Amino acid sequence: MTATQSPPPTPAPTPQPESAAGAAKPHVAPGPPPGHVHPLIVSLPYSIHERADKATADPQLQFFVTRATYYKDQTRKKVFAEVYGERYDQMRELAGNIKQHTLDYLDHYLGEWIDNAEANGVKVHYARDSAEANSICLEIAKANNCKLCVKAKSMVTEETHLLPELEAMGCETVETDLGEFILQIDHDAPSHIVTPMIHKDRVASAKALTAALGVPYNDEPEVIARVARDHLRGKYRKADLGISGGNFLVANTGSVVICTNEGNGRFCTSAPRIHVAFVGIEKVIPGPEHLSVMLKMLARSSTGQPLTVYTHTMTGPKRAHEHDGPEEMHVILIDNGRTEILRKETREMLRCIRCGACLNACPVYRKIGGHAYGAVYSGPIGALITPLFKGLANYKDLPQASSLCGACYEACPVKINIPKYLIQLRTDMVGGKITGLPDRIFYRVWAASLKHSLTYRLGGWAQTTFFRLQAKLSGTLAKGEKYSARGWLKDAPGPVKGWTSQRDMPTPPAASFRNWWDKEHVRSVNPKAAEALKASGAGEAKPAARQH
Ligand code: SF4
Repeated sequence: MTATQSPPPTPAPTPQPESAAGAAKPHVAPGPPPGHVHPLIVSLPYSIHERADKATADPQLQFFVTRATYYKDQTRKKVFAEVYGERYDQMRELAGNIKQHTLDYLDHYLGEWIDNAEANGVKVHYARDSAEANSICLEIAKANNCKLCVKAKSMVTEETHLLPELEAMGCETVETDLGEFILQIDHDAPSHIVTPMIHKDRVASAKALTAALGVPYNDEPEVIARVARDHLRGKYRKADLGISGGNFLVANTGSVVICTNEGNGRFCTSAPRIHVAFVGIEKVIPGPEHLSVMLKMLARSSTGQPLTVYTHTMTGPKRAHEHDGPEEMHVILIDNGRTEILRKETREMLRCIRCGACLNACPVYRKIGGHAYGAVYSGPIGALITPLFKGLANYKDLPQASSLCGACYEACPVKINIPKYLIQLRTDMVGGKITGLPDRIFYRVWAASLKHSLTYRLGGWAQTTFFRLQAKLSGTLAKGEKYSARGWLKDAPGPVKGWTSQRDMPTPPAASFRNWWDKEHVRSVNPKAAEALKASGAGEAKPAARQH
């Protein structure tokens, strides 16, 4: 294994058959429209607010994202309940333990995988960061005179921004996952780990195909798939370089496993003469018996399928007696900040198998979509790993982009306690003074006020008065109407403006919980005092009329 392995001798290009029906058309994606901003290229430090505001004002985006994520989330729950019932949690525990054990002994298992992969004829490289990973890949492409690359979906190559670099060196690169392909020709970027085009519909897809390939507009899904398939078949036949990611590395066989639903991963790794896989170092698991557990959890958590349609295990390049497969197989093991995470308590988050279940379950992701996170990894896991990969100060809004409801933790098949680590990151932000001074002062004052009964009551009184005043000013309560007539504030200023721009806030009841408790407690210990309280009318709260 070397970080800068000397390039192999350039083999003579293998003649590729031309096909009448599927001859490769040029890759004709026109340049992006003027003023186009790439969704995942942001200036740092990144502020989530602008994009989140835009997303929450876009009902179409929310419709697409909410519909798809809700359906996937429900399907996940249903299939796990059907298959594992009450043992579901034990399965999560098992999958989490497999990953955690491997991470705890990563040096051992990674070493074992490298030895076995190299014995199988795989050329293994190690890259400390994105730049090194891309440059290794470019060297391989250059040494083999590669001019056309077909690429399977891979989040790691998104992380390293490989594609523009390949294109810049003159190697035309085509995404072959249907969603990724549409995004590529539309100059867009993935907004979900598993369903990259979750923010678009078939109309947008048909328009993109018409604009890029010049085909007549037709938004029937079968036609869209056929147009893309015809275009891509020609590319597969001519490609000399195939790029993929890797869902798992199996240590004791030296294999790379990829899971796809469209079969494009097989084409990319089998048809071209050179195959390069980009894989994060955390993807290793000990053996095939562990793979069977992980595959079951991955497919059901991602899409609700018992298994992905194509689960492809690659154990080296084409052998002498074999018909298909690449002449050379390279694997680039990528660190890019992972060993730093491994050093800390947060290493648990490297268990992630990129199933996307936490995104589907997250109420924040459903509201703002993936691009609002301003990074390749979005949703709850993105809110965790992006600040760790790219610096907490650069992405200080992301740990806050969570309601800490725990839905992500319940959905995660490898039991990553995402809320716990989001709180940890928030603590780190305060400790490192990354949180702004006004926020730090506000929370200190708040924390101090909670410690004393008098300041606590004073705070409660101020809050209640504020909301009652708003209820009067906004007309929620008519003139002369008692505060006990509950209503909903639709638009409040100041610190609650953000909240009421998206949902209503209940007006305070006539009596607080403390009033109620005092009254009930007094009634039980001192009936006479209770009678006196009743006569004064204090502590009588009327039930709220709930509105939606
Ligand atoms: S954190 Fe868990 S649920 Fe989220 S993508 Fe990773 S494995 Fe899936």
